[in-house]
Amino acid sequence: MRRLVLICFITIWGFFLALPASADQLPTTPFSDSSATTTNQSGLTFSSSTTQKRHHYVIPQNTPVPLEGVRWPSKQVTICMQTDDPHIQQAFRDAVKRWNRTKAIRFRWIKNPNKAEVIAQTGDLDDSQSATVGIVTSQLGATETEFNPDTHTLTRATSTLDSAELDYTSRQFRSRVAQHELGHAIGLAHAPSYAHSVMIPRNIQTGITKNDIKSVRMLYHD
Ligand SMILES: [Zn+2]
Repeated sequence: MRRLVLICFITIWGFFLALPASADQLPTTPFSDSSATTTNQSGLTFSSSTTQKRHHYVIPQNTPVPLEGVRWPSKQVTICMQTDDPHIQQAFRDAVKRWNRTKAIRFRWIKNPNKAEVIAQTGDLDDSQSATVGIVTSQLGATETEFNPDTHTLTRATSTLDSAELDYTSRQFRSRVAQHELGHAIGLAHAPSYAHSVMIPRNIQTGITKNDIKSVRMLYHD
């Protein structure tokens, strides 16, 4: 099974030597992102073998938001909560509600982490400190996906939110970070900065947009 790691440096830039940002300021500070290994193989045709017959999925081209080139077998996706942190639980629950409201995808909560396709968890994501004195970036979220390289079908996605970093942000902001990570978990890649999308890593100032919905709908059209 191949791993596609989407390390999503949704980061807060703080000026270390200056006054530390207060909790209220954090959601409005500029964000930086450097995305790691992502493959974008839009335009592929691939097949997925099921028990009886083969389904051919066409990864659509020219979606408003770029795609990773992989998808789940259906738009019904199971998800399991694997964190006790109330803020992070709330963020993932809010994000699932938002995505389900679009009807482009349907997350269903289940209890068994071994049977779930998506894991929602808390983690301590590495912070990176720039060589430039005084700048520290904090990673807020990451999503790691596994897929079958023969069929380009997702087999597992793990979305992680860093509770220590997100504790200082608002409920709305945490929900948007979770919406972004679950976007990766269903096959969305990062959107360019000029797009109107929750998948813009540098500047999460919006939740799920029409562009995001249209892209997921195109990906799971069958
Ligand atoms: Zn991201």
